[in-house]
Amino acid sequence: MIRLTIDGQSVEVPPGTTILKAAQKLGIDIPTLCYMDGLPCQTSCLVCLVKVRERNGRERFVPSCGTPVAPDMEVESETADVAAMRRTSLELLLSDHVGDCLAPCQFACPVHMNIPDMLRHIQSRQFDEAIVTIKEDIALPAVLGRVCPKPCEKGCRRGSADGAVAVCDLKRIVADWDLAREDFYVPTCEAASGRRVAVVGAGPTGLSAAYYLRRRGHAVTLFDRQVQPGGRLRDPNSSGNPAILPPEVLNREITAVLAVGIEFRGGARLEPPNVRGGVAVDSLRGEFDAVLVCIGEQNQRTWEALGLPSGPRGVAVERGTFRTVIPGVFAAGNAIRGRGLVVRGCADGKEAAFAIDRFLKEGEAKPWPEPFSVRIGKLAAEELDELHSLSLDAPREELRASVDSCDLDTAEVNAASVQAGRCLHCDCRALPGCRLRRYAERYGADPNRYKGERAVLRLQYKESHVLYEPGKCIVCGLCVAVTEAARLPLGLTFVGRGFDVRVGVPFQRSLEEALGKLAEQCVAVCPTGALSFRDGKTPASLPILRSG
Ligand code: SF4
Ligand code: SF4
Ligand code: SF4
Repeated sequence: MIRLTIDGQSVEVPPGTTILKAAQKLGIDIPTLCYMDGLPCQTSCLVCLVKVRERNGRERFVPSCGTPVAPDMEVESETADVAAMRRTSLELLLSDHVGDCLAPCQFACPVHMNIPDMLRHIQSRQFDEAIVTIKEDIALPAVLGRVCPKPCEKGCRRGSADGAVAVCDLKRIVADWDLAREDFYVPTCEAASGRRVAVVGAGPTGLSAAYYLRRRGHAVTLFDRQVQPGGRLRDPNSSGNPAILPPEVLNREITAVLAVGIEFRGGARLEPPNVRGGVAVDSLRGEFDAVLVCIGEQNQRTWEALGLPSGPRGVAVERGTFRTVIPGVFAAGNAIRGRGLVVRGCADGKEAAFAIDRFLKEGEAKPWPEPFSVRIGKLAAEELDELHSLSLDAPREELRASVDSCDLDTAEVNAASVQAGRCLHCDCRALPGCRLRRYAERYGADPNRYKGERAVLRLQYKESHVLYEPGKCIVCGLCVAVTEAARLPLGLTFVGRGFDVRVGVPFQRSLEEALGKLAEQCVAVCPTGALSFRDGKTPASLPILRSG
């Protein structure tokens, strides 16, 4: 047996064992992309680098998947310089990566709704799934479907071709369909945290914040000076034009928000300390674990009278965390921005809820994390055509019974489905299971650090049910090794030279013929979205082979 230490822990393993395996014995998680148990070692991605010091004192970085242990070896796998080397390996892989993890419309939407996912559900008429996707990111979709100026559509890729997908109208149609049901969708909440939050102001920011705080398991009391919640959404001089936002729609949507278990106390105005009949920040601090103020735009004197720190546009808060200098007191929406869009207020409410949730659970308010995404930017016309060709003939899933019982007539459902079918699905099919993205996020890799001129976006083998995207292939060799190990008559091979090496099928045959029954395994072993199912089925739902 050979004894060595990894991150200061001693371990004994048989000779010939790799550092990766020895680390796994200690429960140390070393990332790998091109390694898979049972397949020949590729040592090409260099994401599994560790630092070793040998008996003679020599130090070097080595790929742990292909380096055997040696007596008295000291291995570092969790130090800052190892993390920096892994980050560089990931950034080099990403330097030549052609794909968007998240669609451009999702970045353009202030609340970052998963728009392509919603559109896929609408296209296949799964409105009950679509509303779940929508309400993951938007507490007030029927309201925003009427008053939002649609920044997502300005970011839509199809806008430069034949007009943006009608994202906002489709969201409204689904939200209205949901609210028309007796049992509208009410999301489940996390287990009770035992913490209590006061949200003052029941406009779009307060309603959104209360909704997300409640979903995180906190007990929420929502205060407002009016007897009915809604704030500026009821003000005809602000966002509450009844011709655009009918009161019955607003009332029903607010009922759906409160249904997650929010206590509403109307007629409770935020007042300076010692003024009777209202609520004061200080007394709320005594009663609740956190207080969020979102009572809209006020002048500086009002904020000062209420005992809140003021800045040039409203309450002074730390950017990102929404916290004021008063411990446990936060502010968001027009209270910190002056006048702003309703959708910005909803986004603030959601982000402030995230910061307050961290504060309550970890003791420190944290900003909403910007999701990691490779972004390819503007596409050339032929690249749009490439996406387009896939979207138009995407297979339609079967009708779901849920829509049969809705109040929309079939023509409207069909029109919504056709409109949603215009989406080019710019997000990556591999998003949930992509190991390249997961590790890039873990090590804080910057996808643009070594970016040069990008390759052209191409989709290959579009006629088969498995797609190959050469721009996302890191040439790890796993899919080739799987087909070689199974001794398939055709299988996969590498084609091209140097930087242009890619995976291909011999003799110009189809991918379907090449992979045979191994298609699922090949998609599952692919550490990126280079191999994916054309219908969007993700490798996460497949039997995952054991990986390093
Ligand atoms: S393959 Fe991974 S890193 Fe590349 S676009 Fe898809 S999710 Fe992002
Ligand atoms: S085509 Fe679809 S996924 Fe792409 S930007 Fe437009 S709505 Fe988003
Ligand atoms: S397509 Fe094959 S070689 Fe390319 S990343 Fe996926 S598994 Fe690796």
